[in-house]
Amino acid sequence: MVFCVVGAGFSGAVIARHLAERGHKVVVVDERPHLGGNCHTERDAQTGVMVHRYGPHIFHTADERTWAYVQRFGTFRPYINRVKAISGGRVYTLPVNLLTINQFFGTTLGPKDALAFIQAKADRSITDPQSFEEQALSMIGPELYRAFFYGYTRKQWGLEPTELPASILKRLPLRFNYDDNYFNHPYQGMPENGYTAIVENILAVDGVEVRLGCSFESLTDTFEHVFYTGPIDRYFGFRLGRLGYRTLDFERFVDDGDHQGTAVINYCDEQVPYTRISEHKHFAPWEQDQFSKTVCFREYSRLAGEGDVPYYPIRLVHEKRMLDSYIALAREEKAVSFLGRLGTYRYLDMDVTIKEALAACDLIDTQLAAGTCD
Ligand code: FAD
Ligand code: UDP
Repeated sequence: MVFCVVGAGFSGAVIARHLAERGHKVVVVDERPHLGGNCHTERDAQTGVMVHRYGPHIFHTADERTWAYVQRFGTFRPYINRVKAISGGRVYTLPVNLLTINQFFGTTLGPKDALAFIQAKADRSITDPQSFEEQALSMIGPELYRAFFYGYTRKQWGLEPTELPASILKRLPLRFNYDDNYFNHPYQGMPENGYTAIVENILAVDGVEVRLGCSFESLTDTFEHVFYTGPIDRYFGFRLGRLGYRTLDFERFVDDGDHQGTAVINYCDEQVPYTRISEHKHFAPWEQDQFSKTVCFREYSRLAGEGDVPYYPIRLVHEKRMLDSYIALAREEKAVSFLGRLGTYRYLDMDVTIKEALAACDLIDTQLAAGTCD
């Protein structure tokens, strides 16, 4: 059988390899000129530094199957994401931990006293936080919320935190010790040769034909089934409206040696127009000393317009309603499956993307064994 996979990110690559390993022919198309989707990495032409073209990507997971899977296709170096934040002219550490609390309030509290201190600031009248703001006030109180989250979130989402769901903030840990690891997951790392090399290795199997710079809409071939990891609203010609996304603009600049001393610094004050600066050589500490120059990107967030890269699904109430209508259309669509970040219009980390694609492969096996593939 001949299948089509739309999108050469992690979602598409995992599915394509699986089908090819089962003896099928698979045409993978991506309209971009490179593999890797939004995880794409490449060497910066001027400095030689490996850059994450669509924003900084750190691999982290608790899922054993996913961790074992990615390691089959490349070496992951140990890497812990430690983010710094500038607020009110001072540098702090994130996620909020004991050092952040003690530095911010000028205290020398231990874990138990810090917990009691923050609990006294937290708004206990909010028992079931719905919005981002309610979540923040009930978790850390007004001072830390204002300093680290209010301005950054306004810039990142272009909305008041009262309009955003609590789930966005729930992604971040709050710690009463000096652990400044941004993630809680047991497995974390950075691919030695970048993410694109991993995707290239996943796709390096007999039966897979990759067509880059090729949109799904331009294909004239016929396929048994299409696995579509592009935007679900685009597949249906936006006939029910456009699902809202935030897009990012990256302002590149080069400096000598070391610019900021770390990979990521968040700028939490609303007056600073960008959200963060990423210095990419620090994502690969094992090779950073070999580069005399350094390349950085200031990151600006804005509402995505037609033709912009869709980054963060906004997912407000009316968008979720529109999504439900698109899902209803998708259910009617025979021989097409929608997967991944854009296909399901959800913010998905790489590990969840891969885990869900592997689960889809299990389902494909069951359906192929039963002689169907809907
Ligand atoms: P994508 O990577 O978006 O791939 C989809 C591909 O489909 C694209 O290449 C696109 O060109 C192609 N396509 C779409 N429509 C068509 C069409 N009609 N025809 C042809 N091609 C088409 N995750 C982490 O785990 N850790 C992180 O640190 C992290 N950081 C992130 C930072 C940012 C700024 C963002 C936005 C995301 C981050 N993520 C992170 C999430 C990560 O990017 C996603 O999990 C991952 O990209 C999802 O892979 P995917 O294959 O589903 O989609
Ligand atoms: N956030 C913030 N200040 C920060 C970091 C994060 O206000 O310094 C908020 C912001 O709304 C962001 C959310 O917390 O969207 C989740 O943070 P995360 O680091 O997961 O953001 P992402 O990786 O999605 O950019």
